[in-house]
Amino acid sequence: MTDEHRKIKLLIKSGYPLIYLVTWEEDRVLHMLSEVSSELKKDLYIWSLTDGMIKGDKPLASTRTPVGALELIQSKDRGIFVLRDFHHYIEEPFITRKLRDLVMEFRNCPRTVLIISPVMKIPVELEKDITVIDIKLPRMDKMNEILSHITDGFSCQGIEISIPHGEGREEFLKSLLGFTGREAEQVLSKIAVMEGRISIEDMDLILREKEQLIRKAGFLEFYSKVESFEHIGGLNQLKLWLKKRALAFTKRAREFGLPEPKGLLLAGVPGCGKSLCAKSIAREWKKPLLHFELGRVLGGLVGESERNMRSALKIAEGVSPAILWIDEIEKAFSGISDGGDSGVTSRLLGTLLTWMEEHENPVFVVATANDINILPEELMRRFDEIFFVDLPFQREREEIFRIHLSKRHRDPRDFNLELLATNTDGFSGAEIEQIIISSLYDTLSDEVPFNTDLILKNTKEIIPLSVSMKEKIDNLREIAMNRFRMASVEPSLPVFSELDLRGIFRKD
Ligand code: ATP
Repeated sequence: MTDEHRKIKLLIKSGYPLIYLVTWEEDRVLHMLSEVSSELKKDLYIWSLTDGMIKGDKPLASTRTPVGALELIQSKDRGIFVLRDFHHYIEEPFITRKLRDLVMEFRNCPRTVLIISPVMKIPVELEKDITVIDIKLPRMDKMNEILSHITDGFSCQGIEISIPHGEGREEFLKSLLGFTGREAEQVLSKIAVMEGRISIEDMDLILREKEQLIRKAGFLEFYSKVESFEHIGGLNQLKLWLKKRALAFTKRAREFGLPEPKGLLLAGVPGCGKSLCAKSIAREWKKPLLHFELGRVLGGLVGESERNMRSALKIAEGVSPAILWIDEIEKAFSGISDGGDSGVTSRLLGTLLTWMEEHENPVFVVATANDINILPEELMRRFDEIFFVDLPFQREREEIFRIHLSKRHRDPRDFNLELLATNTDGFSGAEIEQIIISSLYDTLSDEVPFNTDLILKNTKEIIPLSVSMKEKIDNLREIAMNRFRMASVEPSLPVFSELDLRGIFRKD
C-alpha cells in the first residue's frame, strides 16, 4: 500500500467531504480508489462528461451533466463519488454553490467526493472545504514493477534485455523517474522496437524522451550545454565543497548516514562565474540540469502562478535526482516587502520554501543572486551553504586567461599570464573573456599580432564594474565577508590540505 493510498483511505474514513487529487495518472488513481472503496466497503461511483455517473458497470440515468452528477450524489446516503475533469465546471457559480451545499450536508454522512484532474482549480469559496493531494509520479518501487512487467513481456518475444542487477538497475530506474507509469511503458516499448533490445546503454534515449516531456510543460528547460570544472578558473573552496558531495545522491551516502543536500546559493559580483558553476555541477555530479526561469510561471489568472510553480517543481522532482538551477533568484522575490503584486510573489515564495523543505525526491537547487540585500531571510536559511563569489585574485586571473586563451585555440604558454593578471586587478572573469575576444577582433580586422601587448592594450580600454559600480560592489563584499563562506581562498592560506587542492589547480 502506498503512502497516498493510506492517506486517501484515512481521509475518507475520517469523513473528509471533498478531496481534490491532482494527477496525470487517472488510471492508476482510479485503480487505487477502487481498492480503497472495497477495503472500506463503500460503493464507488465514477463520473465523466462522456459516460455520466457509473456504478460498477452500470451507467446511471440523467447524470450526464455536472449538475445531474451532483444531484445524484445528493440523493445518496453513502459512497465514494469520483468526478473526472471537474476543473472545467468547478468555477461555475451554480456548481460552486452546489458543492458547498453538499459539503454542509456531508458533515454527518459517510460520503466523499473526489475530484481527479491534472490541473488544480479551486474557487475561493471552496478553499477551506477542499483537501488537496498532489499525487506523486511513480517512484522507484513502482517503476521497478513497470520495468519488470515490460521486460518480462519483451523477453518472451525474444527481445534482448540487458539491465544488470544492483546499482546498474537502480541507475536505470532513476532515469525513468519523471514519467507517468504509462509514459514509462511507452518509452521502454519504443526503445525495444527501435533498438531490438532494452539495455542499460539506452539511458541516453530515455533522457532524450524526458527532455521532450519537460519542453512540452514549458516552465523548465533541459540545459545540455553543461561546463566542466576545468573551464572555471579559481573558486577552489566552492569546487572542493562540490567535489565532496559528488556521491551525495547515492545509496552509499544514505547508508553512510548522510542526508541528501538540498541546495546551494551562489551570491556575488556579476560576471565572476556563478552561472558557470551552476552549469558545471550537473557535469561533475552526472545529473541532468534543469534551468528554471521563475518569470515564466507568472500567470494572469488568480492562483495561476502558484499552480504553475507547483507544476514546475513536480516535474523537477519527477526527473530527480536532478539539479534545478534558478538564475537571479533575487529578481523574482524582490517585490515581497512592498506587497505591490497582491501577494502573488510571497505566495510563490511560500510554495518554493515549503517544497524545498518537504520534497521527497532528490532535487538539488542551485540559486544564483547578485543582490543579496533584497533576498528574504527565510529563503537563505533553506540552503545548505551560501558561497560568495568574489572578483578573482591574481592566481585565479592567470587561470582564467589560460582557460579562455585555450578555448580560442591559442597556446597560453605564448603569453605572459602573470603580467596580464597583474594588470587586470579588479576585473571579473567575464571582463577578462571580453578583453581576449576584443583583442582577437583587432587581430582579425587590423592584422596586428595577437600577443600579450595587444591584450594589455585592450585592458586599458575597459572600465571594470568594480570601478564603475565601486560603491555597490564594495557594499556587497562587506556584507558577504561577515556572513557567507568565500568561494575562493588564496591557495597559500592553509584551509584545505595540499592533497585536496591537488587536481583543482592545473599545473603546466
Ligand atoms: P551574472 O550574475 O552577471 O549572471 P555570473 O557570476 O553568473 O554573472 P557567469 O555568467 O558565470 O557569471 O560568467 C559569464 C562568463 O564569464 C562565463 O560564461 C565565462 O565565460 C566567464 N567567466 C566568469 N568567471 C569565470 C571563471 N572563474 N573562470 C572562467 N570563466 C569565467
